[in-house]
Amino acid sequence: MDRQQEFVLRTLEERDIRFVRLWFTDVLGMLKSVAVAPAELEGAFAEGIGFDGSAIEGFARVSESDMVARPDPATFQVLPWETPGGHHYAARMFCDIAMPDGSPSWADPRHVLRRTLARASEAGFTCYVHPEIEFFLLSELHEDGREPVPADNGGYFDQASHATATHFRRHAIETLEAMGISVEFSHHENAPGQQEIDLRYADALTMADNVMTFRYVVKEVAMTEGVRATFMPKPFSDQPGSGMHTHVSLFEGDRNAFYDSEDPYELSKTGKAFVAGLLRHAREISAITNQWVNSYKRLIVGGEAPSAVCWGHANRSALVRVPMYSPGKASSRRVEIRSLDSACNPYLAYAVILAAGLRGVEEGYELPAAAEDDVWSLTDAERRAAGYALLPQNLGEALAEMESSELLAETLGEHVYDFFLRNKRAEWDAYRRAVTPYELRTLLPLL
Ligand code: GLN
Ligand code: MG
Ligand code: MG
Ligand code: MG
Repeated sequence: MDRQQEFVLRTLEERDIRFVRLWFTDVLGMLKSVAVAPAELEGAFAEGIGFDGSAIEGFARVSESDMVARPDPATFQVLPWETPGGHHYAARMFCDIAMPDGSPSWADPRHVLRRTLARASEAGFTCYVHPEIEFFLLSELHEDGREPVPADNGGYFDQASHATATHFRRHAIETLEAMGISVEFSHHENAPGQQEIDLRYADALTMADNVMTFRYVVKEVAMTEGVRATFMPKPFSDQPGSGMHTHVSLFEGDRNAFYDSEDPYELSKTGKAFVAGLLRHAREISAITNQWVNSYKRLIVGGEAPSAVCWGHANRSALVRVPMYSPGKASSRRVEIRSLDSACNPYLAYAVILAAGLRGVEEGYELPAAAEDDVWSLTDAERRAAGYALLPQNLGEALAEMESSELLAETLGEHVYDFFLRNKRAEWDAYRRAVTPYELRTLLPLL
């Protein structure tokens, strides 16, 4: 038993924890949990906990369904909200999923990211990320297709008179910090009910775990505050959607490999090739960074979400932005990818972003000229003349791109790649067949 495992067992005893929740994530990014008694944990560390993988989205075929969850002691945290009688009685650990023979499961999103990070590390890089996570607080969330009702009428950076939002953010942030997740900024976003919370940077695997924890905490805290939270990319037709802009940097040891003080944008050759990789593969990775039929409604021109494949500095209409907040500060040189939405699977999304960027670095891709104009205001002809491709317009188009992507097949591995395509094709087909309230409203009275 290693020292982290010993620490976990000791803490369970000292703090009298009654339930240990073992968490993992399915291919679509849904959090799964199985609770075990603390007495089981020594065995769980040694052999893992067996479960039926065929019942989890994308994990296994029925004929080979036995799988094993192996808790990662580095992710141990007491759950601050489970306190009956004032006593903290539950804790959680994220798990890696293994086959019965102990080999890693090819269906585990955490493993997909680990494998990609190992490739980065072979090239000498550690990958750091920080997300700006947007979501809506709703006073009413109906499950029968009616429009939701936002919890407030606030706008960008509003403070006054939105007691629910302010109170909610403080409560959510205290809970996250109690779990070791540092929050850098938080504020009201543009739309009524819309919030943003930005997490302090961490290595990509830790951050993917943090995003999973974040969504759960935010939903829990919202319910205790008498509202509901949603990470749906575009819940309102006439309001901006919820993005998860993601800042990425690569470090070689202590040195930020993206920084070059000589360059006008302080972006190194490595940084430029990374951005070039993100741009060249942007259409292929779209089905992963924007995985729901609804995701593509956010990416329609406007609402400060990107729609065209280009990069810039101050340019918020660009897919990739190189922010210049702290010039001369090597450690903070990073690039911001703005396509991701708050409902992606963070493990898979970070894996494909990293793979696309690294491909650019390995192959020495050339970075096209920066887009300094507002690409939302260009006509189609102007946009084409500037050489900016559009992001896929819908899930079907994104899947077609993914189907012919060697980069995605390699990064996700055959199992996740095939499962994902099959599952999402079914979603796209079901959506295409559905007659929507929009059609009934506009066509039924007319035709
Ligand atoms: N909500 C916008 C998006 O979907 C971002 C708004 C902003 O942070 N500037 O990407
Ligand atoms: Mg922001
Ligand atoms: Mg924002
Ligand atoms: Mg941003």
